[in-house]
Amino acid sequence: MALKDSAFDVDNAITRDGHRGMSYENAFGGILSFMRRSYTKNLTGVDLAITGIPFDQAVTNRPGARFGPRAIREASTLQPCDSPYGWDINPLADFDVVDYGDLAFDYANVAAFPARLTDHIREILAEGVGALSFGGDHYITFPILRAYAEKFGPLALVHFDAHSDTWPDDDMMRIDHGTMFYKAVKEGLILPKKSVQIGIRTQNDYDAGVHVIDAPNVHGQTPATTASQIRDIVGDHPVYLTFDIDCLDPAFAPGTGTPVWGGLSSAQAATILRDIRGINMVGGDVVEVSPQYDASGATAVAGAHAAMELICLYCWNLRAKSLL
Ligand code: MN
Ligand code: MN
Repeated sequence: MALKDSAFDVDNAITRDGHRGMSYENAFGGILSFMRRSYTKNLTGVDLAITGIPFDQAVTNRPGARFGPRAIREASTLQPCDSPYGWDINPLADFDVVDYGDLAFDYANVAAFPARLTDHIREILAEGVGALSFGGDHYITFPILRAYAEKFGPLALVHFDAHSDTWPDDDMMRIDHGTMFYKAVKEGLILPKKSVQIGIRTQNDYDAGVHVIDAPNVHGQTPATTASQIRDIVGDHPVYLTFDIDCLDPAFAPGTGTPVWGGLSSAQAATILRDIRGINMVGGDVVEVSPQYDASGATAVAGAHAAMELICLYCWNLRAKSLL
């Protein structure tokens, strides 16, 4: 079936009928959209919008995450001919997931960027649609959280990262990918007691009151235990899930700006993500993919897989709410 379809299908991003359905076009050709979803600005009837935020001017070290969204889209083309492994739902067949394209912004007016991004996400949420964003560096999560908190109130944050990103910084004009969760707590966008960081392995004496399951802890217990701890912390509160690709060890994701050894394997991350199904996830992102530091392309592949797990978590929650 797939082989036959590949003889006729191409450019599903603009040629598919409707938003739902698998894609059997050749993985190596065609117009790129994430998972060969419809590439559209029309959000009517849409459940979840994928959007790229190609901004990397908040980094402390290597730049390049502006190329993340394009690389993740390209890496995703091998996946949409099969339903996602380990799930009993198939968001690509049963939900309206589209690629909303990238944020437009003035690369030379960095000070204007945060408000521009908040507006972009606010527009998506106003349509009753969820957003899954691709960074970009991790700073992008902060303006996104502002839009989310407007709609949902203060959120539970599930945060995968090598870094806490809560380093104290009281200058709200600074645009820094290592301090925005300090600011998010201070601004009341997230509830620290309902929030948890997973995979931390850099020293920061200030934890902002957020729960931490650091990398040694993740390695010392089963992924199922880590997932259970995460679920206990967030309860049924609305969750924003942010996945910094550097939570993975550099062996699995070398293409990132601030790599740190001793990180999660992709197997650990995949199992934890699947085992937290049932959380009340309302949005999320995958950030810090800088493809040019990784000749193998593995980092973008990891980003595309993590993103698909986030889509499954989101759609699992939508289905649960529809059954209430
Ligand atoms: Mn980070
Ligand atoms: Mn990080």
